[in-house]
Amino acid sequence: MATFKAWVIEKGEAGQNLRFTDFDEANLMDGDVTVRVTHSTLNYKDGLAMTGRSPVVRRFPMIPGIDFSGVVESSEHPDYTPGDAVVLTGWGVGESHLGAYAERARVKGDWLVPLPDGLKAEEAMAVGTAGYTAMLCVMALDAHGLSPSDGPAIVTGASGGVGSVAVALLAKAGWHVIAVTGRAGEADYLTSLGASEILDRAELANPGKPLAKERWAAGIDAVGSTTLANLLAATKADGAIAACGLAGGMDLPTSVAPFILRGVSLFGINSVTTPLPKRRQAWARIAKELDRDLLARMTSTVPLAQVGALAEDILAGRIRGRTVVTIR
Ligand code: NDP
Repeated sequence: MATFKAWVIEKGEAGQNLRFTDFDEANLMDGDVTVRVTHSTLNYKDGLAMTGRSPVVRRFPMIPGIDFSGVVESSEHPDYTPGDAVVLTGWGVGESHLGAYAERARVKGDWLVPLPDGLKAEEAMAVGTAGYTAMLCVMALDAHGLSPSDGPAIVTGASGGVGSVAVALLAKAGWHVIAVTGRAGEADYLTSLGASEILDRAELANPGKPLAKERWAAGIDAVGSTTLANLLAATKADGAIAACGLAGGMDLPTSVAPFILRGVSLFGINSVTTPLPKRRQAWARIAKELDRDLLARMTSTVPLAQVGALAEDILAGRIRGRTVVTIR
């Protein structure tokens, strides 16, 4: 019996439990590409899956981990051959399909993208789902025609994974970036990523007026709820916010005022099922535009055996930037 090391979530009468164990390769799910996983990462959704705080896991047993980089071991897919370096984010991996916190993964080749030129496997996972989602947000703002000359850009959840990459990308593109954080101690970190201003998240946490003084032209929001409502209320005429997260809540207590009186746009960002051409475009832009020194500054590393211990920390907002999980 061939086995490999993996984190496994099981569900019993008493609820779910998570353990680091040997997994039988014969129990991998269907797929046309088998990958030797070299790196994964810790995302907010991985925290939800491992703790069971939210029902993101749709099948048990489940190997958590929503993204990986690795090397193709075997393939029946026309685009991939053994030895190819690949990246995967989303598609329900780690939720409904056995995931990335394991030495092996079997997936559909259609879900993979080739490791982009100029990016190492560990760098791709330093970016991970969070950083790739930040790039999708930037692309939505670009497509709307916004540019740094329109005014500042605001980023919420700025010390987190999506937020850190968003700050770095927007600052590099020339935006005056307002970084919103609840961690005053991370001000120097955010400034080092390129933030021009730090805003205490408490300022956006309470319900405000439907329209407030116009303060920013663009925004990337990882928090949702009242924070997003306040972002919309203070967005300049014809500006836009790209919303991707719910770290502060799932609700959105807003009004139509910013939309109909200021022409503000709200773009929803879903990284999970983004079609392949847009994925490739996002990864190519990341490889080209994301400053590697800043990426290194926002990244910590843990071995596979220790990622389970960080599940509560990411949900509590105690993780700074990105966490790469080294596997082999
Ligand atoms: P992180 O935990 O790394 O970052 C979230 C940040 O949000 C925290 O670091 C903290 O930043 C802030 N935050 C946490 N709790 C609260 C709160 N109660 N109120 C206000 N701010 C809070 O997570 P990720 O960056 O990995 O993900 C961020 C969000 O984006 C998550 O909701 C995740 O599910 C979502 N996401 C969505 C994707 C999609 O496809 N739509 C893809 C990837 C992520 P600080 O301490 O600086 O205030």
